[in-house]
Amino acid sequence: MLHTTRVLITILVALASGTAFATQAPPSQIDASAVQIEAPHPEAVILDYHSFLGSKNSSIDYSDDDLSIQLDRIKAIGYTFVTLEDAVAGRMTGKANVVITIDDGNHSVYQAFEGVFKSRGILPTLFIYPAIVDKSDKALSSAQLLELSAAGCGIGAHGFYHEYMTPRAYLRDPKKVMVEVERPGPALEKKLGKRPVLFAYPFGVGSPEVEAALAKEGYSWAFLADDKVASVDFRSPGLDHFAVPRTIVYHWNKEAVLKALAARLTK
Ligand SMILES: [Zn+2]
Repeated sequence: MLHTTRVLITILVALASGTAFATQAPPSQIDASAVQIEAPHPEAVILDYHSFLGSKNSSIDYSDDDLSIQLDRIKAIGYTFVTLEDAVAGRMTGKANVVITIDDGNHSVYQAFEGVFKSRGILPTLFIYPAIVDKSDKALSSAQLLELSAAGCGIGAHGFYHEYMTPRAYLRDPKKVMVEVERPGPALEKKLGKRPVLFAYPFGVGSPEVEAALAKEGYSWAFLADDKVASVDFRSPGLDHFAVPRTIVYHWNKEAVLKALAARLTK
């Protein structure tokens, strides 16, 4: 009995290691194309939040408790939170990655970072339009942005006045749209000492003219936003670096977003 078990274990080990019954081909007979199987590219879903005031009258505002529950559910599904900077640089593995971005620089982002994101090790990227920084008490101040940046949050540009940058807006008033392209970089650099390289279009939509102008301004990636869940493979040759999809988490689509996040891991 003992002997039989030992033989069985030996066979199982040999099968697992691939040595059972295998005859090794000499190096000259190995097909080179079979060896060069590339690992699948890593992917991430980029979520887009806005404010954490806990008001009941906005479809893009959440309480800290609501936010905590969502983040914990995403983690429970099996996702790892990665920073946008790591995602664009390919510093992630597999497809179960979520990036958190937060647009507009609402003042509540500060308290949400301290109370919700930080303890979970999540470093969101904040897309800021500088026209309201230090001008409105509804917005994060320069000092708070500096603090959040020092804590590891990414800071990107979100236009200057938060005006439309769509093809129609460009056709109507190209100069006005170009202000949104040209002014936020220098303004954020003056406040934070660092020129942003990431851009998110106000209202989530860009245009071909704007994409070219952003590249000229030194941006390396620009992000759209809508209600659909999209996987982003940053190494895909087909990906437009100036039209990278993000998913806005509204109250009305949040359950669908969580469902879609779970579904893409089972495919
Ligand atoms: Zn916005």
